[in-house]
Amino acid sequence: MKIKLDLHNHSCLSPCGSDDMLPSLLAFEAMEKSIDILALTDHNCTRNLEPFGQACELCQILPIFGMEVNTIEDVHVLTLFKNIEDAQEFGFYIETLLPNIKNDPKLFGNQNIVDIEGNIISTFKKSLLTTCGISLEDVISECLSRDGLVIPAHIDKNANSILANLGFLPDLDYSALEAIRPSQIKERYNKTIIQSSDAHYLEHVGRRSCFLEVEEISYEGLKQGLIDGKVSYIQ
Ligand SMILES: [Zn+2]
Ligand SMILES: [Zn+2]
Repeated sequence: MKIKLDLHNHSCLSPCGSDDMLPSLLAFEAMEKSIDILALTDHNCTRNLEPFGQACELCQILPIFGMEVNTIEDVHVLTLFKNIEDAQEFGFYIETLLPNIKNDPKLFGNQNIVDIEGNIISTFKKSLLTTCGISLEDVISECLSRDGLVIPAHIDKNANSILANLGFLPDLDYSALEAIRPSQIKERYNKTIIQSSDAHYLEHVGRRSCFLEVEEISYEGLKQGLIDGKVSYIQ
């Protein structure tokens, strides 16, 4: 079956994400856009995944528990997990690798940790917009060892991407690649290329997503679907 996929979205925990981008509203907005599999991927932090998972259950969307890790090379990589526990364990590990730089909300935005109703429980103190002390190669091995999926983000963007920062695509074990203009990237690399929203505002949810052929709507179905690589794009 063909399902609609969006594996890259931020919540109010990401400093660059809108304060209105509550995990629950992200799930409801995705339901409106008929998205079947949805990931929350805040920068370097997994602390809003719990309300996200609860909201996806209400919306009957398959949640993928993720994070967008900023590697030591300043490359953004999506790390995606089936279980919230695995995602959080990896998230807490990444938090320890963040430099001890305090977020300045006035300059960079709030880092709100919320519940399913959107009540602010606390704020994350260290800046989430910095690189962590982990290489691209180590992110991949750490994530794969936890049965995660690894997808370099927006590889055709002119900042914070593999192609912009490294100048080439190292031969590593990617689950797929994410591109903003997938058709152009597809011509260059024989890999599964997905497209996602990278939404930081509610109105951006579903602005880019793609269809994937899968056997079933499950994490295993997604994993196999990315290997099979039957993707079509919504232009
Ligand atoms: Zn990014
Ligand atoms: Zn992002």
